[in-house]
Amino acid sequence: MSTSPQFQRVAIIGIGLIGSSLADGIRANGLAAHVACHDADSDIRARAEALGIVDSMHADIADAVSGADLVIAATPVGACGAVAAAIKDHLAPGTIVTDVGSVKGAVIKAMTPHIPDGVHLVPGHPVAGTEHSGPEAGFADLFRDRFSILTPPPEADAAAVERLAAFWRALGSDVEVMEAEHHDRVLAITSHLPHLIAYTIVETAADLENELKAQVQDEDVVTTREVIKYSAGGFRDFTRIAASDPVMWRDVFLLNKDAVLEVLGRFTEDLSTLQEAIHRDDGDALFELFTRTRDIRRGVIEAGQAGRFQYTENGESED
Ligand code: NAP
Repeated sequence: MSTSPQFQRVAIIGIGLIGSSLADGIRANGLAAHVACHDADSDIRARAEALGIVDSMHADIADAVSGADLVIAATPVGACGAVAAAIKDHLAPGTIVTDVGSVKGAVIKAMTPHIPDGVHLVPGHPVAGTEHSGPEAGFADLFRDRFSILTPPPEADAAAVERLAAFWRALGSDVEVMEAEHHDRVLAITSHLPHLIAYTIVETAADLENELKAQVQDEDVVTTREVIKYSAGGFRDFTRIAASDPVMWRDVFLLNKDAVLEVLGRFTEDLSTLQEAIHRDDGDALFELFTRTRDIRRGVIEAGQAGRFQYTENGESED
């Protein structure tokens, strides 16, 4: 528990997994005198209120941000521009406005035109999550021992950046500062592409299963969904990742389009190479590749990035 609040009033916009984890973490660490909240969804507002995780809940976004010295947009990235437009006339000078979106360039583009003079926009992205959504999914330690990336524009106020960095550190995160474009390229490969692969493989498996079932007329032969029945190891992890929130991930792919398409092109080439190696019965090529990737995994473990709450953007790995 920190000794004194870093902020008088933190306004959280969107109280899903990330927003509720922030609310829990702020409270657990005494980081704000008051946590105000707005969510566009009345049902979610009621659920978050019932959980008692915020000090005040507001149907009107203006009421939530009035008097706030920190505003955090914790909505899907596609909504960040609309949030900035809705709050712009209600922000006091000196307020820090940030977000938690998984894409940074598009969020900066959407929010910046609405940020009044004297208000500090410092975009951010906690590289932490689970596949669960909604206010019930949050927990205070979500950000502990995970990276939180800040992508301040070049003209950002250095004191505001440091104040926000201190906030994330108080939540247990390691803070990194980088350019938004760099962030989007790195996350395209480490997070966005793995999600795309998971969504695809689960869909492909389900389609293949349906085709098999259509071939086998005897209902007794295939009675259970085999995709579920035999889900073990790797495939089970794919199904977990593929359970991630569809709105959030739709927005991520649409708003990080260029970087995702670039890494997807490269991935497709590498997959073709692997396909050819299998065709050619080239065991050496397969062995060498699998040995290299095993070394990479060992590097991840040594870097402390594997564990109970291993990050896959929303990947809660149990290894
Ligand atoms: P979530 O659980 O779906 O929560 C988002 C909340 O925002 C929902 O309650 C949603 O209501 C609400 N909302 C949507 N549009 C709004 C608007 N215009 N104004 C106010 N509230 C609005 O999503 P999440 O997982 O917390 O993700 C939130 C953000 O964190 C996303 O930008 C995501 O990229 C980022 N992020 C997610 C993870 C992760 O693993 N999940 C990790 C790091 C960062 P409705 O559901 O009714 O639309």
